[in-house]
Amino acid sequence: MSQARSSGCPECDGRLSADGGETVCTNCGLVVAENRIDPGPE
Ligand SMILES: [Zn+2]
Repeated sequence: MSQARSSGCPECDGRLSADGGETVCTNCGLVVAENRIDPGPE
């Protein structure tokens, strides 16, 4: 569990795009999270 994490791609620190329940990096295309409901403190 990594709590000290910013809302960026863990691989390239690129911008993430949440679309259709998927969180995908718009830079490298890495799927950070898919179909996962995670109500974080954001
Ligand atoms: Zn990336």
